[in-house]
Amino acid sequence: MLIVINPGHCPGEDSGAVNQNTGLQEADVVLNIGNLLAGYLENVDYETKIVQLNDLNEICDVANGCGADLFISLHCNGAESTQANGTETWYYDQSEEGESLAYCIQEQIINSLGTTDRGIKSAVPHKNGLYVLTNTNMTGVLVETAFITNDSDEQLLADRQDDFARAIARGITDYIK
Ligand SMILES: [Zn+2]
Repeated sequence: MLIVINPGHCPGEDSGAVNQNTGLQEADVVLNIGNLLAGYLENVDYETKIVQLNDLNEICDVANGCGADLFISLHCNGAESTQANGTETWYYDQSEEGESLAYCIQEQIINSLGTTDRGIKSAVPHKNGLYVLTNTNMTGVLVETAFITNDSDEQLLADRQDDFARAIARGITDYIK
């Protein structure tokens, strides 16, 4: 079982969403969560590969070229309104496996972190298709862990990265079982 972990964006090149009060950057948060997640998955004997690149096309090439079984993209959400908050997990349109994986991860995060459950969502090509989901061949999900632009979600993203990583790892193992 080879699991590709794709922390979104790229520190130093593309910060992703940023909290205007604290300066906390999405690219850094998801890299830390991704590294922690890889550790937990390796503890239960899954192989992992972390791919964080500025070029979405290259990310897909790496995932498709390395024989990955699962693809996990990690992001923090951002919105104009600082009120928007919560967790959502995306899967590729009509992929039953993706839907199941998304459900398992979503459940673990909302139960562990207590974030608002925004649900699992289907990414439909040419409508709301997320590039890395529509251009990778294996079962994949994109996890919007929480809103970095919301101050209470931001505190979780700053202080409880390990809990996010553990929750996502449990979601993945729930799915594989
Ligand atoms: Zn992002």
